[in-house]
Amino acid sequence: MTTMDCRTAKKDIDAYLDGELGDQECKDFMDHVDDCADCRDKFRSSKKSINLLQLVYNDSVPPTKLRENIFGKLGQTD
Ligand SMILES: [Zn+2]
Repeated sequence: MTTMDCRTAKKDIDAYLDGELGDQECKDFMDHVDDCADCRDKFRSSKKSINLLQLVYNDSVPPTKLRENIFGKLGQTD
């Protein structure tokens, strides 16, 4: 059973990857991602992009800036 809708889950991907979600939010988010293929794909590709960019840029670019770039790009392809 999932208590979260896709809109919230997609917003939470960002916070989750930053470790900003609380215990309950984190649990709700993971439950939703488990159940929802759409959000799972989005989560996986976001995670992959962030890992990849962190490898490429190492620590020369602040994470917030990285995230803006990633989500800016994702937004354009949607
Ligand atoms: Zn969803």
